Amino acid sequence: MKQFHSFGWYAARIAPYLPEEAFRPVPSRLFGGLAYMLVLVSSIVTISLFDLHWLWNGLLSVVIGFCFAGLGFLGHEILHGTVVKRAWLRDLLGGIAFLPLCTGPKLWRKWHNATHHVHTQHEELDPDAWPTIKRLAQSRFLRWVYRIPFPIRAAFSFLSLAGMFTVHSLHMLLHFWKDFEKGNRRAVFWQFVLPWSVWIGLLLMIGVEKWLFAFVLPLLIGNTIVMGYISTNHRLNPLVPVNDPLANSLTVIVPKWVDILHFNFSHHTEHHLFPAMSSKYYPLVKQYIKQLRPDRYYEMPMTKALIALWKTPRLYHEQTELIEPREGYVYGTLGYGLNIDDLSHKVKENVIGKMVKEK
Ligand SMILES: [Zn+2]
Ligand SMILES: [Zn+2]
Repeated sequence: MKQFHSFGWYAARIAPYLPEEAFRPVPSRLFGGLAYMLVLVSSIVTISLFDLHWLWNGLLSVVIGFCFAGLGFLGHEILHGTVVKRAWLRDLLGGIAFLPLCTGPKLWRKWHNATHHVHTQHEELDPDAWPTIKRLAQSRFLRWVYRIPFPIRAAFSFLSLAGMFTVHSLHMLLHFWKDFEKGNRRAVFWQFVLPWSVWIGLLLMIGVEKWLFAFVLPLLIGNTIVMGYISTNHRLNPLVPVNDPLANSLTVIVPKWVDILHFNFSHHTEHHLFPAMSSKYYPLVKQYIKQLRPDRYYEMPMTKALIALWKTPRLYHEQTELIEPREGYVYGTLGYGLNIDDLSHKVKENVIGKMVKEK
């Protein structure tokens, strides 16, 4: 087995080389949020007040969708405390930034900061990790899903990215509800209701047709953009016994202007090493990681990562392999034989058939 290290182990070795300001909040990130807000609000007002041709409304939907995604990336950063330090201001600004994607700040910090970051790619504890073949054996629903032919399943799972972030948020609300103390549940509930009230209020004001352009289409576009990144963050990596960001995370490469628009969200390995650091400094962190462990660091163009996701199944086998149970095709994961340029597989027996026979 490979030797794993915790994120603290890497952070302790890289931190001495970073400038002091890298560990301070960067409030100037809010100017980016303000720019997104101005474009978003003026686009929604334009759709609402004028009876434009649907092509113009469609174009404005794309612009609003890009703003939804950009604000989501900023919300992620704000709620890690890397923009402002005061807790109430962090939650207020983070809540506003996540309002388009309909996620509340308290729920997000529980789900993402306190759980996903602490237990990344842990088979049972990471709420964002994909299931193992053991779970398939226990779930009739999962076995039904994995009987659907692979190309149909792959196409459906890519289409579902258009709503996945918002749907997964609702799932997380139900998943974590019991874990919130009784006194906090009221706030979590209202933080969920408030964004939806804003958007349903808009529907009542402008009618269904304009609302589709002002909210629904942008929500689908925003979801697709954020999920485009999130789906590449860990899904080609193995499940791991130790939360080692070099083993369990992937950094994707996008054009520089995209990194500016998306607050360097592509630097996901760097983010897992220093989640409380502004992403402004991640390109610098990347240089040092590559010096420290060039053999263990994974990065690839985002398009390549998405193609690899399309072509590989999302079910873990023995932690380090991905298995297509219907045909018994087994692929490696990053660091365990997955070759992005040649996605070949081994063949195992029909695993679903065997499991059903054993039951
Ligand atoms: Zn992550
Ligand atoms: Zn994070």
